[in-house]
Amino acid sequence: MQLTFQFSDDLLHQLGYRNTPQRYMILRVLQESHEHLSINQILERVQQSNPYVNLATVYRTVELFTEIGLVRAVHLSGHQTCYEAVQEQSHHHFVCRGCHSMVHLDSALLGKLHERLEEQIQVHNLTLELVATGYCDACWQMMQQQDVATNGAVAEVTSKPPVHL
Ligand SMILES: [Zn+2]
Ligand SMILES: [Zn+2]
Repeated sequence: MQLTFQFSDDLLHQLGYRNTPQRYMILRVLQESHEHLSINQILERVQQSNPYVNLATVYRTVELFTEIGLVRAVHLSGHQTCYEAVQEQSHHHFVCRGCHSMVHLDSALLGKLHERLEEQIQVHNLTLELVATGYCDACWQMMQQQDVATNGAVAEVTSKPPVHL
């Protein structure tokens, strides 16, 4: 499901909020970005079109969008809180335990898990946000090399003849 600007407008209206030019601009920045943005990054991008928008406004607006479900706050370990526009009902991240790098997972891999869950536990409009953790390839390679170095040292020690007392 792709949320359109029209949809966002309608939703704001339904909930009794006016869609001010500033709100529109902040939402557009989030919807046009395909990455997670921190509050400061959002501010920077909004200020490119309107230098008079301040941090407090961006913060309040993003809070509002998060409350009504247009935007999700992403808290991943090792990262500051970031925000992104909600584009679909399932959204998954992989976070490396070593370097905290983050990648988005292809939700097609999990198929229609959110729909099946909706059916099974009888809930509606369920969103699914999985966080998978592990080691990225770079961190893994580095750990393998460290392992080899450590095991080498251990092997040297244990290869000495046992001391009998
Ligand atoms: Zn890593
Ligand atoms: Zn994300």
